[in-house]
This record gives sequence, C-alpha cells and structure tokens, in this order.
Amino acid sequence: MKTLVTGGLGFIGSHTVVELLNEGFEVVIIDNLSNSSMDVLEGIERIAGKKPWFENVDLKDKKAVQTFFKKYDDVAGVIHFAASKAVGESVENPLLYYENNINSLVYLLQELQQKPEASFIFSSSCTVYGQAEIMPITENAPVQQAMSPYGNTKQMGEEIITDTAKVSNLNAVLLRYFNPIGAHPSAEIGELPIGVPQNLVPFITQTAIGLRTELSVYGDDYPTSDGTCIRDYIHVVDLAKAHVVALQRLFAKKNLDKIETFNLGTGTGSSVLEVITTFEKVSNQRLPYKIVGRREGDIVSAYANTDKANTVLGWKAKSTLEEALSSAWKWEKKIRS
Ligand code: NAD
Repeated sequence: MKTLVTGGLGFIGSHTVVELLNEGFEVVIIDNLSNSSMDVLEGIERIAGKKPWFENVDLKDKKAVQTFFKKYDDVAGVIHFAASKAVGESVENPLLYYENNINSLVYLLQELQQKPEASFIFSSSCTVYGQAEIMPITENAPVQQAMSPYGNTKQMGEEIITDTAKVSNLNAVLLRYFNPIGAHPSAEIGELPIGVPQNLVPFITQTAIGLRTELSVYGDDYPTSDGTCIRDYIHVVDLAKAHVVALQRLFAKKNLDKIETFNLGTGTGSSVLEVITTFEKVSNQRLPYKIVGRREGDIVSAYANTDKANTVLGWKAKSTLEEALSSAWKWEKKIRS
C-alpha cells in the first residue's frame, strides 16, 4: 500500500516524505512544481537513500486526479499539503486560492470516498483561531471568521473533510500548524520562497546572507513583553514527524473519532525580537533591522497548547528555536554558495 503526499516537493511536504521513507512507508508524490522544483526530489533521495514515486499532476485538473488514482489503485493514505499559501496574494486574487485549495481537495476526496477505507491528513493552520482570547491556544478555542481567503480555504477545507467523513469511509486528522521554520539538518532540503519572503525566518536568513538590505519589524508597540508579535516557531522536522505519527494512528485504527484535530507547535511563544537575537547568536553576526509600523492583519500573539498532541498522538516537538534557526541558516548558506 502506498501513501500519497500531495505537495511533496514543497517545504513541509519534502521533510515529511523523508520521515515517511525513513519509517519504511512507500510514498508517491504529486506536485505540479508551481512552488517547488525537481531538485527537491534529488535532495529527498540523497537523505533517505530511497526514491519515492513522483507524478507531475495538477490537482486542479479533475481528469488528471482520476487518472492518477487509476494508476495508483493501492493508495491507502493521503497527506494533503498541496495548496497556495501566500496570505497577501489570496487577498488580491481570492478565486485563485479558492480554485486551487478547494477544487484540489474536492477532487481528491471524490476519489477517496469511493475506496472501502481511506486515511487523510490535512494541512490546516493556526490561522483558523484568529486572535484567540486565551493563550496557549487549545483545539477547543473557537474558530474565528477568517481574515483572508487563504485562511478561509483552511476553514472550509476542514469543514469539507468533516462533511465527507460523515458519509464515507474516510478517517481524517486535521493538523493545525503554528509557524514552521528551519530545514533538514543535512541542508539537502529546506524552504525555498519565491520572491520576497512572507515569513519572518526566510526574511532573516536572506537579509543575513545579503540578499535584502534590512529586515522590517512590523510594530514594537504591541501588548507583549518587548512590544513585538509573538508566534510559536516549530522546527519543520518535528512537524514532519507528527504527520508520520498521525498516519500510523489512522492506519492502526487508533483514532477515537472519524475526524481528529491537533495543534502542532512547541507550546512556547517567541517574540520577533527574541527570534532576531537568537538568530544573531547562532549565526554569530548582527542582523540589520528597523522597526516600522504595524502590518494590517497581524495578530498580537499565537502559541499552542500542545497537550492533546503530546498525550493523544504521543508526539512532542523536540528541537529548540536555536536548532531550528541554525538549520535555516545552514540551508540559506548552502543554497547561496
Ligand atoms: P509549499 O508551497 O512549499 O508546498 C506546497 C507544494 O504544493 C508546492 O510544492 C507546490 O508546487 C504544490 N502545489 C500547489 N498547488 C498544487 C496543485 N494544484 N497541484 C499539485 N501540486 C500543487 O508550502 P508549505 O509551506 O510546504 O505548506 C504546505 C501546506 O501547509 C499548505 O497547505 C499550507 O497552506 C500549509 N501551511 C503552511 C504553513 C507555513 O507557514 N509554511 C503554515 C500553516 C499551514
């Protein structure tokens, strides 16, 4: 039986494929290379010493998805990463996001619901909580009105999967990621943002390497200890491992409900200035930055209560912020060398 990893050449997908191969899973990747490249497949092979199957399929193409499932009729589990993920772009072009993130999901589920049983893992996000009232955030915190079409596709995705599971043999785990950062310690794979990075850590490493002149810190007047926003930064390898555990749980039929939801974070919040200071420590260099005005749509603070993932899933993030930033820096230096 094979596990399909959609978006398996992307940032989180590629790290997850490595962990799946390490655990002996047979993996087939679907990726349309819209935000990745074939080099990533080689990086995966170099780390894992094994080759996953690969199909260049656009999941928005319903016929192509049907053809894929005819060819790979032994797919029993799917980890669905493939999506467009730039929040700002989703505000500019909402239909692009609804088409890619929703149609792709629907076409996959249409195939899976025909199977006698199917296990599905969905890449959701802590954005579903908006600015939660209580920190750290538990899975019971209310889902708030989405602040962007991207965020909305995550909320809708969760609902679509839940509705489908009610009427089919689908069992699913919804994983709400906090802020994935870092790279594989081998520096064979990592994050490859196209254009100006939307996230803090790639912006930091690109500034440190000299690709950008300085980092803008959006606001230092928030009600936090140093005035900058707080997030829960999780090493991508830890995040990847949680997917393996979640899939094993579904395959072993240990899930207590047809749909289970878990927060994936470290449980610790770090401010933007703390991340900068920690980066300066691990890279041994000063990072040029300036404080600018607040950015619209930024929430003050978000970090996870990970008790449920720790106890029910039996998974815990192990890497420190130092280790995660260090791996991101090693990766940046490697790709620019
Ligand atoms: P990524 O862009 O690096 O990876 C996504 C991959 O999917 C890319 O390789 C892209 O080429 C592929 N893809 C996109 N549309 C496709 C389509 N129609 N058909 C086939 N392949 C397609 O993104 P990532 O950071 O690895 O994120 C993976 C998932 O996790 C996404 O669903 C994202 O929304 C979610 N997520 C990411 C973060 C984050 O900060 N990185 C946080 C929360 C949730």
